[in-house]
Amino acid sequence: MNSDDKSSESDSFSLLKELSETPGVSGQEDRIRARVSDHLAPLVDELHTDTLGNLTGLKRGSSSSGKRVMVAAHMDEIGLIVTRLEKGFVRFAPVGGVDLGALPAQEVTVHGRSDLPGLIASRPPHVLSQEERGKPFAQADLFIDVGLAEDRLAELVSVGDFISVRRSADRLGNGQATGKAFDNRVSVVVLLQALRILQGRSHAWDIFAVVTVQEEIGLRGAKTAAFQVAPDVGIALDVTYAEQPGATPEESLAMGSGPAIGLGPNLHPVLRKLLVETAERDEIPYTNEVLPGNSGTDAWAMQVSQSGIPTALISVPIRNMHTPAETVALKDIERSARLLAETICELPDDLTALALDGEA
Ligand SMILES: [Zn+2]
Repeated sequence: MNSDDKSSESDSFSLLKELSETPGVSGQEDRIRARVSDHLAPLVDELHTDTLGNLTGLKRGSSSSGKRVMVAAHMDEIGLIVTRLEKGFVRFAPVGGVDLGALPAQEVTVHGRSDLPGLIASRPPHVLSQEERGKPFAQADLFIDVGLAEDRLAELVSVGDFISVRRSADRLGNGQATGKAFDNRVSVVVLLQALRILQGRSHAWDIFAVVTVQEEIGLRGAKTAAFQVAPDVGIALDVTYAEQPGATPEESLAMGSGPAIGLGPNLHPVLRKLLVETAERDEIPYTNEVLPGNSGTDAWAMQVSQSGIPTALISVPIRNMHTPAETVALKDIERSARLLAETICELPDDLTALALDGEA
């Protein structure tokens, strides 16, 4: 690793830390949008927030063809929502695919009339029956304690208020980092770093950099954004599963092995070929991620917008997905950003010029 790699890694980490620690539960993305907007604004020619809350930056290309590539990275994170106040405690329901087993003892912020620090409490083992011990907690066993008296709590917190996990992002050994909401703030950093690379480069296509909302509850931002942008090509950025104890090679990719280029019916083979050729030409390490069905990413929504949009997927492997302790290899952020930037520069005016092997 040379010193340039190190400085760009530390640049990526500070950006990731800032974005990871900013709350943005699906449906309440205003704060994360404001942060991303600050970083995106100097990198694009126009910036626009749509009705649903997607943030779209347009960076114009050099060609008069008006060809559009939409790059989507979701900014929302899984979280919780207040369902009931009970004797001075807050009852909640998950927003998105929350792992209940990872919740006990987590620190949270209840976004009431003001931000209230709290924690997810559960009964201590001493008061559990023999039968209850060793069993995983159910949602009914968990509640949030913000330390306020019942009447004061009722003044400050209402049913429907959002709750986010509070966790600082930190560096681990060997160029790795840990924090919450790396799904998908990692990809938002990839998008920003790619746009930085593209500042000094010529690209023919108009780039619509869309930081989407409500991905975690059904790819909802990508749906409306793809309809509005009507791109010629879509590229989704997301995270995927890095190998760890208990995960088989079929369901995970090596940590630090570079961007994973998706392949399967959700993804267009010609675009995939362009990504692979670009990675090989520029000696960017990459892996293949086989997705036999729903990729569970914004690529799924983009592909079937308008009359169909050729779509690709670049994923960064992370561990412990959908827990507050996700981990990533920072160099994979760099490599994914380079792959995205270089591929955008390679988009030809006529996509049919990229025929697959054996095709005319
Ligand atoms: Zn997710």
